[in-house]
Amino acid sequence: MPFAQLGLEAELLRAIAAQGYARPTPIQAQAVPVVLQGRDVLAGAQTGTGKTAAFALPILQLFSRRPRTQGKAGAPRALVLTPTRELAAQVGASIDTYGAHLDLRCTVVFGGVNINPQKSALQRGVDILVATPGRLLDHAAQRSVDLSGIEILVLDEADRMLDMGFIHDIRKVLALLPGRRQNLLFSATYTKDIRRLADTLLHQPALIEVARRSAAAESVDQCVYRVRKDAKRDFLIHLIEAGQWHQVLVFTRTKHGANRLAQQLVRAGIQAAAIHGNKSQSARTAALADFKRGSVRVLVATDIAARGLDIDRLPHVVNYELPNVPEHYVHRIGRTGRAGQAGSAVSLVGDDENKLLEDIRRLLKKDIPVLPVPSFKPKVLAAQPERKPHAPRQPDPTQGHGRPRSRSSGEPRTEEVPGPKRNSRPRNRPRRAAGNSR
Ligand code: AMP
Repeated sequence: MPFAQLGLEAELLRAIAAQGYARPTPIQAQAVPVVLQGRDVLAGAQTGTGKTAAFALPILQLFSRRPRTQGKAGAPRALVLTPTRELAAQVGASIDTYGAHLDLRCTVVFGGVNINPQKSALQRGVDILVATPGRLLDHAAQRSVDLSGIEILVLDEADRMLDMGFIHDIRKVLALLPGRRQNLLFSATYTKDIRRLADTLLHQPALIEVARRSAAAESVDQCVYRVRKDAKRDFLIHLIEAGQWHQVLVFTRTKHGANRLAQQLVRAGIQAAAIHGNKSQSARTAALADFKRGSVRVLVATDIAARGLDIDRLPHVVNYELPNVPEHYVHRIGRTGRAGQAGSAVSLVGDDENKLLEDIRRLLKKDIPVLPVPSFKPKVLAAQPERKPHAPRQPDPTQGHGRPRSRSSGEPRTEEVPGPKRNSRPRNRPRRAAGNSR
């Protein structure tokens, strides 16, 4: 079905065509007409399915045609809540892209950066506000945002927001919104908590389920190598070099493990950087930009840090260690093979991880092929970094330069547990140039 059949107007179709999208993804085909009708939606869709456009396109269309129904001029009409700053920035960028030919403004606010530019942006007037919950509440407390005009609320990746402990903040935000509004809830999983939230939030929602979580990324070629813990590093280096992998996202379970592995890869002559919750926002943004650009070949990440990352056509994901929570496996491999592109997800599984592998298989309801480990000659690591570590903005690419957050950066081998990100360091998305009317 072409996009035109979804009833979208010419300005949106033009922006979609400029993105090279040939046809709507399943979530878009189902959600766009329903949102345009003004209905509440409960959508089961994980990242990579095109869910952002599924809510952004109809919201843009509704607002471009419909005069505001409540609130003061300049107050936001739609609020999109996201769990992470990265996702907020991506959603904001997507809305800007899809709305490029419409006279609507989008602003992104998240914590950890100077609040004043955000206040100025809000003061100038905004139609769609994308926010992380903590900073939004800061704005509300300082009366720099007026939420009385919200006509549409989107909870994006609601399950992750709950995982990260945002339920209280979400409830506080809900209390600030007008009662009459359209609610869209997007979640990759349907936990009991999500169902409870949906029950209190949604009014006769349209239920949309695209890819069951267990159907995770059908286009991802998954395999397992049985590798002893102490042999994983050498084998990973072998995989990267023998396979000539140029862009690999590697997951470790701990921040410490992410740092150490990135350092070892650098010592093996492979440009690598680590991102995790102890990194400053600027370090994370820089590492991600370098990875997307190709100057960093391997990005080593913890689960939390990788949330919301949108890297187009990421070819390889490696589970250096399996996650403790099987759903995280699905999130991890969802980073590759996005929007129908082929991708590979390789898991290095040690003897101590059998139970975790079993849990993942049970969740996926399928086996993951176990491939024989080929013989290879381990590479000798340089004692010191062979090349100057790739770090345009900091001396060591694997070490964050920001202030450590609540968990100390020296803390060894702690699991990176989800928690509210109130004092994290997000950054405001650059505004479009002055003079552009959006
Ligand atoms: P999302 O699930 O919203 O994070 O989107 C995942 C990726 O799919 C993004 O890089 C989008 O640019 C891309 N995308 C969204 N809609 C389409 C479409 N209809 N056709 C092809 N790619 C798309």
